[in-house]
Amino acid sequence: MTPDNYIELADILFGNENLKTPEEYEELYPYRKLSGKAEVTRLAPSPTGFIHLGNLYSALADERIAHVRDGVFYLRIEDTDAKRKVDGAVELVIDSLKYFGIEFDEGAGLDDDAPVNVYGPYIQSERKEIYHTYAKELVSKGLAYPCFCTEEELEAIRNAQEDAKELTGYYGKYAVWRDKSLDEIKEALSAGKEYVLRLRSQGTPDKEFEFEDEIKGKVNLPENIHDVVILKKDGIPTYHFAHAVDDHLMRTTLVIRGTEWLASVPTHVELFNALGFKLPKYAHTAHMMKTDPETGGKRKLSKRSDPEMSLEFYKKDGYHPQCIKVYLLTLLNSDFEEWHRNNPDSDINEFPFSVKKMNNSGALFDMDKLENICKNELSQLSEEEVYEFLKTWADEYDSDKSAKYFEDKEKMLEVLRLYMGVGQKRRRKDFVNARRATELISFFFEEEENEADEFRQQPDIRNAILKDYLENFDYNDDNSQWFDKLKIIAEKNGFATDRKDFKENPDKYNGETSDVAEVVRIAVTGRANTPDLWGIIHILGEDKMRERITKAMER
Ligand code: GLU
Repeated sequence: MTPDNYIELADILFGNENLKTPEEYEELYPYRKLSGKAEVTRLAPSPTGFIHLGNLYSALADERIAHVRDGVFYLRIEDTDAKRKVDGAVELVIDSLKYFGIEFDEGAGLDDDAPVNVYGPYIQSERKEIYHTYAKELVSKGLAYPCFCTEEELEAIRNAQEDAKELTGYYGKYAVWRDKSLDEIKEALSAGKEYVLRLRSQGTPDKEFEFEDEIKGKVNLPENIHDVVILKKDGIPTYHFAHAVDDHLMRTTLVIRGTEWLASVPTHVELFNALGFKLPKYAHTAHMMKTDPETGGKRKLSKRSDPEMSLEFYKKDGYHPQCIKVYLLTLLNSDFEEWHRNNPDSDINEFPFSVKKMNNSGALFDMDKLENICKNELSQLSEEEVYEFLKTWADEYDSDKSAKYFEDKEKMLEVLRLYMGVGQKRRRKDFVNARRATELISFFFEEEENEADEFRQQPDIRNAILKDYLENFDYNDDNSQWFDKLKIIAEKNGFATDRKDFKENPDKYNGETSDVAEVVRIAVTGRANTPDLWGIIHILGEDKMRERITKAMER
């Protein structure tokens, strides 16, 4: 085909679409005026109605990189695969990320008339004519062509390649429509045959090029030689083509995406070149891994078999979004943890996040570590903040508790002060998430079965202790008077009040004072471990305490 033939072909394929020119789009979407090293990043999910921890992990990286400087973080919806589309998926992405404190500056979900949304539309299915402008441009330069192969023909090519032990795909001599004449193409068109549009690859087999990934560093990759599909039969672009057009026109400077896309880089490099676009920077993020509890080996976190992969998991159990964010930052940048420890009062958004510090070898998800972070972070909140958080969670996920536990705010605040050690030398770190926190303090608000105590087997001893306790209890005793009485009761019932003595002569005693306290603790709270019992009793009230101890004695 001659250069004129290419222009004619482009006109035949796209002439009746009244398309803008590439120059018009360049003008419509000018380079962004950004300061210094500010980056433009994006999240580009397919609207499948499912968003997982891996998405949140890369969204957080995108968001941080854009926002450590005055960059832009936007949302683009990649819905070119109609089969995977689910209603409400855009809202789901936006709401889920918002819950974890990640918000977009621009993009899908915002009104397209919003003053910031000047690089849209941000939903790929609304950009068909833009893709066609660039497809036409490639055809007119001889860099793309229609291919009328049927599924059967493609299959036959693949079989022939497999038989000959050759690389499979549509390339070189196997690219049967690559060198057809204009007349042959016209003939196929007038016969009404369907076609896809393919890139006419200029790559050389077995030739490599050096590619610099922001996370992986320099890697050698083979040049692309495949005449990849850029527009499908219905004129919808493939991911590859849409990626090049969109990230160029939306002026993305840094593409952060999963490592599974690294193998497509050669195709993308060739497409950007063919289109005359500057290549953005790329950062391919490692997968999230976990240690398999059965084999002890590491494996990818899976949507199907690992509940902790779903973001709903964290909402349902009431993990505070700040804890998840701190945890993910710990995974994303190895020096974050130390920075956070050294700057406990600084907003975590002040951390100098950098793509260069991102982990190349797979982020290992560790539930114990996450729980420790939760305990730490929650212990640093005020009781008012924890109150609001628990209440919001209960309102949504446990209406029973939300009615019972939160009707008396002052009582709940007192419970929280005690459980968090507010005003103590050191904060307590008992709370992991809302579900478990409310379970831990449930005995303040409802009657429940007691945990077994050591003295259940010896009800006489237990009841003697409880009887003495009730007889001697005075609500006005302060903490140390109260404890002194406990010691007297211990002595009277054959328990050691001196730890050392007890250790040396265990057989002489029924136990020691702490065992006596435990009997009372379990009778009152149903728990073997609680913060200061005197404090608990003073929140619960004398009547409740007496009622519970009496019940315990009857058991
Ligand atoms: N739509 C692609 C995906 O969900 C996005 C990849 C990218 O960020 O470019 O995997």
